[in-house]
Amino acid sequence: MITIKKVFGGVDVPGKKELSKDCPIEFAGIPGEVVLFLSQHTGAPSNPIVKPKDKVLRGQMIAEPQGTVSAALHAPTSGVIKAIEPRFHPVQARMADAIILQPDGEHVSDESVKPLASDLEDLTPEAIRTIARQMGLVGLGGAAFPTAVKLAPPENKPIDTYLLNGAECEPYLTADQRLMTEEAEKVIFGFRAFMKASGASRGIVCIEDNKPDSIEAMKRAIQPYSEIELAVLTSRYPRGGEKQLIQAVLGREVPPPPGLPLDVGVIVSNVGTAYAMAESILEGLPLIERIVTVTGEGVAKPSNFKALIGTPLSFLIDKAGGFNGTPRKVIMGGPMMGAALRDTNVPIVKGTSGILVFNVDQVVEEPILPCIRCGKCVDVCPMRIQPLWIAAYSERGLMEQAENARAMDCCECGACAFACPAKRPLVQWIKLAKAEITAMRRA
Ligand code: SF4
Ligand code: SF4
Repeated sequence: MITIKKVFGGVDVPGKKELSKDCPIEFAGIPGEVVLFLSQHTGAPSNPIVKPKDKVLRGQMIAEPQGTVSAALHAPTSGVIKAIEPRFHPVQARMADAIILQPDGEHVSDESVKPLASDLEDLTPEAIRTIARQMGLVGLGGAAFPTAVKLAPPENKPIDTYLLNGAECEPYLTADQRLMTEEAEKVIFGFRAFMKASGASRGIVCIEDNKPDSIEAMKRAIQPYSEIELAVLTSRYPRGGEKQLIQAVLGREVPPPPGLPLDVGVIVSNVGTAYAMAESILEGLPLIERIVTVTGEGVAKPSNFKALIGTPLSFLIDKAGGFNGTPRKVIMGGPMMGAALRDTNVPIVKGTSGILVFNVDQVVEEPILPCIRCGKCVDVCPMRIQPLWIAAYSERGLMEQAENARAMDCCECGACAFACPAKRPLVQWIKLAKAEITAMRRA
């Protein structure tokens, strides 16, 4: 039995998971066009190995990783390469190179898509890391960090514990919850592969207490494995942040950036990533699809879809019954950390966990008022920094002061802005400071 430790900061946000938590995962189907960005992961963009007019099959590699920290890209379905050209990247908010695939509707798999092993005994740690690299696996919890790199910690930083992150603390999102409920055994297979590849002798599955169905399913799935335990956490945002999870479950504090979980002997991976690892080993299927929650009061039929990477948001919203009322705001990701979009004609990427649609009634435009120094933003900040001062420095262009106030420690969770009674756009100012500080460091 794991005792959960007290974690600094955080906010109680309405979960809103009831809209989609009972919607089983359905295959969304094949859209008319698939857009695959060469950069949809942390690190160097992948390098195309196809050209326009090439025919490709489902699961075929179409771009290879460039360098160690990069990820391969595969065709999510069969069809013809239409173009390699810049398209608007919904996460990076800029034009970026993408491979455009016109599906043929046949969904024919490449011959490489076949089981690689049925038992982890048949795979060495090195073989698991190689599969993760060849299959283009990246973290599906948001950051999209290449999994093969995560599974190869430096020799002087041994890993004793691996945390499987099923907290899904962002409101509205239920993709991980459905995956754990419906595919618990596969998720645990992938998790055991991660443990073997990293050398971790102890595994802990971490779930918030608002997901009783997932808790039961995962409890059953881990029963045969004495090296894996379950930690049930109370729901509080951002409990699922990597550092907060490590602190809550293990009582270890990850040092400030550039400190990483491996500095305290831990790796954390999302349940979706573990499922993708299992699919790679058991089916030979690269990361060409993922679970996406399409929800919000502005969607007619909230749903959890298995969607091809590169599927347009508009296609998924249509599959969810279309808009329910007059849409005012569309967000890719969760409401706390996601990005608001102007256009739904953009594709999902490997890191897309949800699409939220809100109508006019749910989007309250409140005036931004002067800071009243109430300190609420400081109280809720899980990184123990002072958002009000960092934002104020950033607003005035004082980036050195913002850096000295530890702007780079901000994990962009949005808890400060949520708590601020003056409705100050704290996260936007802090993000700007982080971008400027990064540019200053490069210069
Ligand atoms: S300053 Fe950053 S880490 Fe702290 S609450 Fe705000 S967004 Fe979260
Ligand atoms: S919560 Fe808002 S009003 Fe209160 S101190 Fe922070 S920035 Fe100022």
